[in-house]
Amino acid sequence: MTNASADLGRIVTDIAEEMRARTDRGEVAHYIPELARVDNKHFGLAVVGADGEVACAGDSDMPFSIQSVSKVFTLTLALGKAGDRLWQRVGREPSGSPFNSIVQLERERGIPRNPFINAGAIAVTDLILSGHQPREALGEILSFMRFLADDPDIAIDEAVAASEQRTGFRNAALANYMKSFGVLDNPVEMTLGVYFHQCAIAMSCKQLAMAGRFLAQSGCHPKTGLQVIQAERARRINAVMLTCGHYDGSGEFAYRVGLPGKSGVGGGILAIAPGKASIAVWSPGLDAAGNSHLGRVALEALSKRMNWSIFGA
Ligand code: GLU
Repeated sequence: MTNASADLGRIVTDIAEEMRARTDRGEVAHYIPELARVDNKHFGLAVVGADGEVACAGDSDMPFSIQSVSKVFTLTLALGKAGDRLWQRVGREPSGSPFNSIVQLERERGIPRNPFINAGAIAVTDLILSGHQPREALGEILSFMRFLADDPDIAIDEAVAASEQRTGFRNAALANYMKSFGVLDNPVEMTLGVYFHQCAIAMSCKQLAMAGRFLAQSGCHPKTGLQVIQAERARRINAVMLTCGHYDGSGEFAYRVGLPGKSGVGGGILAIAPGKASIAVWSPGLDAAGNSHLGRVALEALSKRMNWSIFGA
């Protein structure tokens, strides 16, 4: 073990211990009943370094609902399919609004601000679905995740998908609204079905950090050496993660952590230290903007101790 990896291992363990001791844990998401049942005492952290070393602590092997973190991977797939044409149906500016806001959509004639708010992610999923049956589109998303993470065991939590399908009225409103402007090509129920299932993919911190490696390595999948996407595209996805990855908490996340990141209401965050590491953290309690509270605190500590902020030392 090199000194650097010994340091990383110790820092990751220390941070997990510090997080365990904290009592300010935030509130689990209540609007998806199945997520409301998750114990907010969980905490996991996994870091995969550029040289392949893995440092983990806490509940880093326990699968959780990745929710909106899935949007990074569907954006990658949709860009592969449509190229820059994707940007005709979804913008790439921060929204400054909650993740499920409908107000902006009306003002901007059904074009969502960015691919990470719910409306934008639904539009991206619709593009992946085109020309396929929902089952095939989901199979494509799942195979992509398994390939990236190098793990065939990644699966969808059907109970979470069903729970959101039963209660996803707000997402149905967003999708119908976009459909009325011709932004969605497929029947709304089909697009939503794929969207709810992609959000219900369950992964551990370790699997998620492995899946994010290509974004830390200029688009390259380290195990196979395959270029998943061009370096320029990886850089741009990281840019959208930085500016839009935490809804209207994106500025605060950039200010405190200084890394591209994408959060999900399951309490997970994928963060990328370009050229250095892919990081996944999970703590189910959320802050007011719907982002993992201790996840952000832990990433702030990690970025500071490793000197990983993209904005300098
Ligand atoms: N499936 C969730 C929803 O559509 C995703 C939101 C999130 O993770 O931020 O409401």
